[in-house]
Amino acid sequence: MTRRRSTYRSLASLQRDNRVCRACVDAGHQLESAPVIEGHAGQRAYLFGLAPGVREGEEGRPWRGRAGRALRRWLELDEERFYASFYCAAVTRCYPGKPPSGRGDRTTTPEERRLCSFWQEWEMRLLQPKLLVPVGGVAIKRLLGLGSLACVGERIELDGAVAIPLPHPSGASGWLNEAANRARLERALELLQSALGEYSRMSPEAGHLTQNST
Ligand code: SF4
Repeated sequence: MTRRRSTYRSLASLQRDNRVCRACVDAGHQLESAPVIEGHAGQRAYLFGLAPGVREGEEGRPWRGRAGRALRRWLELDEERFYASFYCAAVTRCYPGKPPSGRGDRTTTPEERRLCSFWQEWEMRLLQPKLLVPVGGVAIKRLLGLGSLACVGERIELDGAVAIPLPHPSGASGWLNEAANRARLERALELLQSALGEYSRMSPEAGHLTQNST
């Protein structure tokens, strides 16, 4: 049952309502899983993906499939430190299923993305992350309003936070086939390691991350 309150005082109550959201189904869109989010109050890094895949939908946990493994390899984080470091959310939070062609996953509609932005906007207010990591063009557009991956490799100063965008690790777009783009990714990962170090000075959990990764 979809419940959207006019105001939320805690991340826990927001998550409770997000986890039972069926707003897209109510609007006539077909979805194949319940909402997938993972994180808790106090996390300072916000990882923002496109949508869960089939495995994430089945397990009810983000970044479980091949793209998640590639992302952890890029970040040089094992699973425990990855989930301890990042609040994991996405532009849309339910597995959208297959397209009629059966290839890949269905592209979500602008209406689904608009419906789901409610949860992201409240997360921003309640979590107040210091480090934003949008992953892939759709997430970059939604979070930063930037229309291309040309910002990968940049550290973008926002009001009280920093954003370091990444390309999507699924490799579906072929963007990383170009050497110049691989260099952008390397630069982004260096920036991210440095930002996670800064974040570790604010968060006890990330301090654990830093100690274990040296
Ligand atoms: S994609 Fe987002 S808005 Fe749509 S049903 Fe899932 S949680 Fe709700």
